[in-house]
Amino acid sequence: MTTDVPRPPPLGPGATIGVLGGGQLGRMMAIVARQMGYRIVVLDPNPRCPTAQLADGFVVGALDDIVSGRHLAKQVDVITLDTEHVPGDILAELETIVPVRPGASVLRIIQDRLVQKQFLDRIGVAQARWAPAGDVDELRAALALLGKPAILKLRRAGYDGKGQARIPETSDGLAEFAHLTLARPAVLPDQPAEPGNPAVLEELVRFTREISVILARDLGGEIRIYPIAENVHRRHILHTTRAPAPMTLDLQTRAEAIAVKVATSLGHVGVMAVEMFELPDGTLLVNEVAPRVHNSGHYTLGACATSQFEQHVRAVCGLPLGDQRALTGAVMVNLIGDLWAGGPPRWAEVLARPEAK
Ligand code: AMP
Repeated sequence: MTTDVPRPPPLGPGATIGVLGGGQLGRMMAIVARQMGYRIVVLDPNPRCPTAQLADGFVVGALDDIVSGRHLAKQVDVITLDTEHVPGDILAELETIVPVRPGASVLRIIQDRLVQKQFLDRIGVAQARWAPAGDVDELRAALALLGKPAILKLRRAGYDGKGQARIPETSDGLAEFAHLTLARPAVLPDQPAEPGNPAVLEELVRFTREISVILARDLGGEIRIYPIAENVHRRHILHTTRAPAPMTLDLQTRAEAIAVKVATSLGHVGVMAVEMFELPDGTLLVNEVAPRVHNSGHYTLGACATSQFEQHVRAVCGLPLGDQRALTGAVMVNLIGDLWAGGPPRWAEVLARPEAK
């Protein structure tokens, strides 16, 4: 699918990509971008952040500080993000200096769970039943509507289950509400507390499994969809991904159609992950949309002709997308830092299997 809007000239190797946020996703993107011949400049409050070690340039500053943002924008040809938690107003102002992909209009919708849910309702995509829980009265009404157990989620700044609380049958929800809204996780340093409407309530979904559809959309609207991933979470954090997830063609077609609808309706540019719950009857409910490269897409690094990181770089630089097909099946296990407390993984044992990466 293409549009008639004239495309700006592509940014070839040698151009400089600015990255807002210097986390592990930015780091992996930087490795691939540098292999492709791009320069990388990252903005992050922490000069020792994972991306900084691989970047050509670095701006030390908060992600919600427009002065630091402008400083970055003036050094780069295009800006992208490793986190969706950069305020929409900042992105909108940076867009007046240099292209920001995905743009402020996409991020404004995705970074606020309530706005994201309203958007998904508006475009007719099924999701768990939900209701706003901005204050105690709204919370009571939401619990009366959705029943218990239910899951309370902060509107902003949540990831990997942070900023979420399960409300059990035995609770009136007030303690969870107070705990969650007072103890906001600080994703953006020095982010001011947001008065009013801090959370949404979701029904607890009894899913049979979780899947994610990762796709890339280029400047002309062309879309490439990766083999669908099946994900197991432990303690709210992605633990294992396998791809391609075994599924019927019907389920695959429906999952892909949902993800394409989300990306197209947003006018997204870059890689996007749409996480879904599969119910016992095969219904798919969208859980969350991430407008960026995604943990459940790391398998593409070894298994697909074009990794999600290369695909994202191509998209934000206005280049054609690469071949997303899997050359092999893959299983990814998340060796998150907490697991290393008892010493590093036994690498020699793992790598004794030649197919391990
Ligand atoms: P999230 O940060 O919203 O992606 O949630 C992290 C994980 O918590 C999900 O991948 C699910 O395993 C679980 N979860 C989140 N929302 C719900 C829900 N409404 N019902 C059941 N499990 C959920």
